[in-house]
Amino acid sequence: MKVIVGMFSTESNEHVPNRNTIADYDVAFGAECIRKCQVGDVFAREGIEVIPAAYVRSGPSGVIAAETFRYILSLFTEKVREHISDTDGICLFLHGGSEVEGTGSGDHAILREIRKIVGPYLPIAVSCDPHGNLTREYVESCTILRSFRESPHTDSVATKKHVARLLCRLLKNRQNIHAVYSKVPIIIGGEQSVSTDEPIRTFNRILNKYEEDERLLSVSWHVGYLRHDCDCAGSGIVAVPSREEYLSYAQKCADELRDIIFEMRHQFHYTGLTMETDEAVTAALEFEGKPVFITDSGDNIGSGANGYNTVMLRIFLSLEQLDKTVLITDLNDPAAFAKACELERGQEMNMSIGVGIDDCSAKVQVEVVLQSRGIIMGMSLGDPDKVEGENLLLKVKDRPIYISLVNRRSSMCEKHQFKAAGLDWDFYDIIVVKQGYIFPDLKEKGKLSIMALTDGPTLQDTRRIEFKRIMRPMFPIDDI
Ligand SMILES: [Zn+2]
Repeated sequence: MKVIVGMFSTESNEHVPNRNTIADYDVAFGAECIRKCQVGDVFAREGIEVIPAAYVRSGPSGVIAAETFRYILSLFTEKVREHISDTDGICLFLHGGSEVEGTGSGDHAILREIRKIVGPYLPIAVSCDPHGNLTREYVESCTILRSFRESPHTDSVATKKHVARLLCRLLKNRQNIHAVYSKVPIIIGGEQSVSTDEPIRTFNRILNKYEEDERLLSVSWHVGYLRHDCDCAGSGIVAVPSREEYLSYAQKCADELRDIIFEMRHQFHYTGLTMETDEAVTAALEFEGKPVFITDSGDNIGSGANGYNTVMLRIFLSLEQLDKTVLITDLNDPAAFAKACELERGQEMNMSIGVGIDDCSAKVQVEVVLQSRGIIMGMSLGDPDKVEGENLLLKVKDRPIYISLVNRRSSMCEKHQFKAAGLDWDFYDIIVVKQGYIFPDLKEKGKLSIMALTDGPTLQDTRRIEFKRIMRPMFPIDDI
C-alpha cells in the first residue's frame, strides 16, 4: 500500500501589511519532507510506503500572495495526479488558518482540488491546528479530521501520529465514512482558550470521553482563527464515525458537544495574569524575584505579527529611575539590524530603532553597544534544528536595557532558542517577549509572567476587532 503525505501550514493575519510569499516558506521534498511531516515511522511499521508530496510551512504571517499559493497548490495536485493509480490514501497536515488573495482559505482549496482529482471515496486523513477555520464542505471532504487538543500545542506530534494510525486502520478495513461538522457561534483567540485553563480543561476531558465510544473514530473542537475576516470564522466541532451506519450518530454527538461548549462560553478568559500595558510594567518593576516575563501580546509573532512594536522599549527608556535589568526580545527592524551589523563587539553607535510604519512601531533614537551575535533557531512545533536567522544583542549605553535586534519575525519561545541567541535568561530581571500566552518553557522559568494588553496587529480583545463577513450572532461580539 501507498500513502501520499504532505503538510501546508500558514496563519494569515490580514492586519499585518506584508503579503506572504514563497520566500517566507520552509519548503521540503522527498526524504526531508517525510522527516518533517513526522509520521513516517507510523506508516513504516504498517508496511505502508510513503509518497512525499511537499512540506510547506511558514510562520504566521500576512495573507498569501496569489502566485505563491498557485505554486504551493500545484505541489500537492501534481503529486496526486502522478500517483492517482497507485495511492491508497492521503495523509495531510493542513493548519486551517490560511487566507489567499482572491481565493479564501488555502487549506480548503488544497483539499477541494485534491478531491476533484481523486473523487469522493479515496481516504484523506487530515490532522490540523485547532486555530483554523472550517466549512461543512471542507469537513465532509475529509475522511478523517482531527485537531490538536492542547494549546499551546504540546500534543501536535502525537496528534499527527494518531491520525496517521487511524488512516492505517481504515486502509486495512475500508469504511465509507467522512467527518461531520457542527458550527459553534463563538469567536475567540488563542489567549482565551489555553488548554490548562477552564473551560478547555473540562471540555477536553469530555471530548476524550466521547472518543472512547467505538462508534466514533475521533471528535475534536476547532477554536477557529480570527485574524482575517471571512465567512468561515468561528469555532466548530468535528466528529468522525467509525462506520457508515454511525454517520447520523456522529452528527448527533457533534451537535451535543456544540451545545456543551456554547454553554461554557462565559467561562472563557485570558490565561494567567493579564494587565494593561502600564500596569504590567509597574507590576514587573515592583516584583522581587526574577526573571519576570512580559508578553507584548499586540505584537504576537505566533499570531502573525511582525515584531515591529517598540512600545515596551520606549516605556522602559522613558523611566528616569531604572534599577532592574531589562531585555527586549526580538525586535524586528531590518534597516537597524543592517546598520548594527557593522559594529564590532563592544563598539558603540547612535542609531534609530523602529520601522516607524505606525504608532506602535515608532522610531526611537538610542546609543547602543554591541554585546554579542547569536543564532535564531526554530521551534519544536516546526523544526527546532533549523537555523532561521541571526540576532544582535545590543545594550543601551549607560542604561540596564538590552535589545535582541533581528531582521525577520522571530519570538523567543523555548529554552534552546534563548541559548542559541546568546540570551542568558538568568541575567535579566525583566524579559519582554513577543507572544500572547506565555510558552511552557518560559512559564516554568519565570517567577512571574504577565500578558500585557498592548495595541498592534494581534490585538487581544475580540470585541475591538472589526468583522463584516462572519456569521452573526456570534459570541462575544453579540450578547448571546
Ligand atoms: Zn494554533
